[in-house]
Amino acid sequence: MAMTPDAAVRKRFEDRADVQLRKRHLPLIIGRATDTREARRRDIFAELDLPGLRNAAEAVRAHTVANLHTYLDRFAERAEARGTKVFFAATAEEAVSYVRTLAAKRGARLIAKAKSMASEEIHLSPALEADGIEVVETDLGEYIVQLAKEPPSHIIAPAVHKSRTEIARLLAAHHGRSLPDDPEVLTAFAREVLRRTFLEADIGISGVNFGVAETGSLALVTNEGNGRMVTSLPPVHVAIMGMERIVPSFEELSLLLPMLVASATGRPVSTYFSFINGPRLPDEVDGPEEVHVVVLDNGRSKILGTEYQSILHCIRCGACQNVCPVYRQVGGHGYGAVYGGPIGAVLTPLLVGFEKAGDLPHASSLCGACTEVCPVKIPLHEQLLALRRDVAREQKPVVEGLAFRAWSTAWRRPWGYRLLARLARAGQGMFVRGGRIRKAPPPLSRWTNRRDLPPVARRTFRERWKDR
Ligand code: SF4
Repeated sequence: MAMTPDAAVRKRFEDRADVQLRKRHLPLIIGRATDTREARRRDIFAELDLPGLRNAAEAVRAHTVANLHTYLDRFAERAEARGTKVFFAATAEEAVSYVRTLAAKRGARLIAKAKSMASEEIHLSPALEADGIEVVETDLGEYIVQLAKEPPSHIIAPAVHKSRTEIARLLAAHHGRSLPDDPEVLTAFAREVLRRTFLEADIGISGVNFGVAETGSLALVTNEGNGRMVTSLPPVHVAIMGMERIVPSFEELSLLLPMLVASATGRPVSTYFSFINGPRLPDEVDGPEEVHVVVLDNGRSKILGTEYQSILHCIRCGACQNVCPVYRQVGGHGYGAVYGGPIGAVLTPLLVGFEKAGDLPHASSLCGACTEVCPVKIPLHEQLLALRRDVAREQKPVVEGLAFRAWSTAWRRPWGYRLLARLARAGQGMFVRGGRIRKAPPPLSRWTNRRDLPPVARRTFRERWKDR
């Protein structure tokens, strides 16, 4: 049975990573998919002034987030003037309750969903299903993880952890027929079975890539046509938008959209860009009768004004996940939360609190690869380090604190450093096998449970230096 993200996040990262690391094929599957995207991303930016583009994108996001309430008010005013209903949800519960009430009012039996990480964050689908409504994910990756009863594993590619054989078996088992592991056949099959959902859905639910304050428009980027179907065929469209996903105008959007697409997929353009300007007008032939936008706070406001504010600049491209050596080993499910990888390791503890997710900032090698690829220059590895500090301050691990204080006191003095090095060298003998320490006594065993520890050298640098 799928674990709810909240329950999962309460387990330690170490335990979840253990489970993931036992799936020997996982790094291979994830590595292949993420390497391809990363190589394409590098190629596409090689021709462009990447530093200049990143500076400009960072400036736009920093300005918008610093003036978020002004732009949100403007967005709501302009969107409502065009007939869109805007609801500000302070919490996940408020957002879910709004959609449930709307679904009940419309007598909805079937809901077609396009990809929306914000809706995953608030656990919208399980709540609607509990009301007896059938909710069908129509993004192919999301459809696959829905059938597998799993949360998405990557911001852009929810089923990145599944091989094509696994996908073929999953679709075949669910639909009771045999299917080859040929991506084209599988895609065509999914397309056929999902068609009914688009045509019969009472409500379409989507995410939002950007809300444009100047016009009250919603900008959606998709690779499959499902986003367009979900937002135009059902009589009601509900968009769930994180409150930070605002841009002042189309001018800024014209910078951020290509940056998002290139960083996410390594392509110059996405297959579909959709701009939704409200419900169908009397002289229009298609479009929904009602458009609702749920603007989601759910912990974001409390990040504003802190040293972590720049995490709200994120445009959800997933590039940091592709290059993260930890994510590439354990996949998104290792993080036990909706957002995996470096973005999740920073954002999740800030949204749900250190008690539930204070271990996530440790799920990083701090190599800085994430910071290097981020199109809006979020200093992810620095934020991870700062979070480790803040978590330690809040959780005050007494024994660990004392041990580190003693260690730092000793190492600040040359004689203390030399003494400890000698003691470690004398005491490590029984643990060294083949030039490595594979099993150390507690508390170092937490390290050697998963990797080897290099032994203290027979002669230290200082000793060799002295001889010279
Ligand atoms: S933190 Fe940066 S790289 Fe990661 S998803 Fe957000 S925008 Fe993309």
